[in-house]
Amino acid sequence: MKKIISLLLLVSVIGCGVLAGCGSGGASADESSDSVADPIENIVATASDDKYRNFYEIFVNSFCDSNGDQTGDLQGIISQLDYLNDGDPNSGDDLGIDGIWLTPIMPSKLYHKYDVEDYYDIDPDFGTLEDFDELVEECHNRGIKLIIDLVLNHSSSEHPYYEKAVEEVENNILDGYAEYYEIHETSYFSDDTQVNLLSNGYACEANFSSEMPEWNLNSEKTREEFTKIAEFWLDRGVDGFRLDACKYYDNKGTDGEEFLEWFYTTCQEINPDVYMVGENWTDDSDIKDLYESGIDSQFAFKFSASSGLLVTNLMTQMGAATVSKVMNYDNKMKESNPDAINAMFLSNHDQVRIANTLEPRGLETEKFAAAVYMLFPGNPYIYYGEEIGIKAPNTTNDASYRTQMIFDSDNLPDIWVNGVGDEAEDTTYGGVKQQLEDEDSLLNFYRRIIKIKNQNPEIARGTMTGVEDFGDKQVGAFYTEYEGSKLLIIHNFSNSESKELTITDNMIENAEVRADLITTDSDTHIELVDGKITLPALSSVIIKSAE
Ligand code: CA
Ligand code: CA
Ligand code: CA
Repeated sequence: MKKIISLLLLVSVIGCGVLAGCGSGGASADESSDSVADPIENIVATASDDKYRNFYEIFVNSFCDSNGDQTGDLQGIISQLDYLNDGDPNSGDDLGIDGIWLTPIMPSKLYHKYDVEDYYDIDPDFGTLEDFDELVEECHNRGIKLIIDLVLNHSSSEHPYYEKAVEEVENNILDGYAEYYEIHETSYFSDDTQVNLLSNGYACEANFSSEMPEWNLNSEKTREEFTKIAEFWLDRGVDGFRLDACKYYDNKGTDGEEFLEWFYTTCQEINPDVYMVGENWTDDSDIKDLYESGIDSQFAFKFSASSGLLVTNLMTQMGAATVSKVMNYDNKMKESNPDAINAMFLSNHDQVRIANTLEPRGLETEKFAAAVYMLFPGNPYIYYGEEIGIKAPNTTNDASYRTQMIFDSDNLPDIWVNGVGDEAEDTTYGGVKQQLEDEDSLLNFYRRIIKIKNQNPEIARGTMTGVEDFGDKQVGAFYTEYEGSKLLIIHNFSNSESKELTITDNMIENAEVRADLITTDSDTHIELVDGKITLPALSSVIIKSAE
């Protein structure tokens, strides 16, 4: 292994104008520089033109407030888009994100907006439809696909259709608005179903809370309404949807898979390139069944969060087991949908921030966790702030997983989060501004992973065709193949030992190191000498046939 001192090419980045509220973000700093050396010299990163993307989940309430009312909003997001992607995969100090998932933006009482009152507007806390149109345009200018959260399992109990339904049931009218909802005689429901009791012996299914009555997904009326909703947003330019609570699409009278297939097909007729990712927080077999609907992606929950397979295997340094489990999972899903795009993630807005678990193990562990999950095939979903190691101020309250994004830790934002107030938990390593200045920061490591992925499109698009057994359970190695190109990706899960590994012609003919991710030092690189590599602890390497 040889030390290569990288030349830092100082590139001045054009400022993006005055920002309000969020402190100065990365791309807005006047003297920012491209502090990450090209992972692979002479290889151009290409922007994605398909559904394979590096996604970023924005919890809208908490990302960036443009007008000082202590609530994040759409204009705030627009002001920080250059941080996520400046539109050029080969320059600037942006993160390289090319897909954004916005948590719900429609009018709703609760700060998280998962109880929708009106599916055809923007919550006034977040802005207007004009702001939204501007956001779509600015995303598309940068090559970012924008998907929005769509809650089709339930509405708010203050949705006008539900209010009318309740009123009609009181008058024994059951063939009007009641048909939009899971409203039946109470005897229809099993004992363990949560319901809202209505008049005259009727009830409405409401598994989440009494404020969230469930739509009747089997009703032609509901489907007509949902078609209008899909047309409304797709016509405005959204590229697809993150579908909330798919697990609950199955009702006594509704086959969730049939409903999803109907909805997906309906959306494809409006936009053939529509992309959908489902939140189906359940067992493998149910996720596999739902892929039969044709949906592009579902979140791989079992590998997420501190108790999930990825982090627990990281703690026990079980590399070989990790890659086998992901390969088995991914291949199983592709039996149902050969085009399935696995959606891996470390944490989301419903889970304790992953930095609470990883940061005590050290920066190298945080970096390595990101490399491991993002180098599997599919679409990784980075939860905003994960790339700078934001921690939850406490681990028992959902709202504490949704605190302010920290663009500049010397200039903390003042965003109010329900139940947490405006007290942000600082990151251990500073905000975006501070981390861009540190070549070995967590943020610059994330930037490097994404750059490598943009230089090697087969990482995201490949199929895992096998694991390689190096006779060491701490080493996780797998092959991924895409359009005749084969990669061998190797992770060293040991947190203390380097591994000397022999790469034979049987593994990869005429092998060369395509890229590496060394968590201790970005100036160190791996060399293949006489068929051998030395892979440092908590590091990764990508090997390919020389061209
Ligand atoms: Ca605001
Ligand atoms: Ca760029
Ligand atoms: Ca339901």
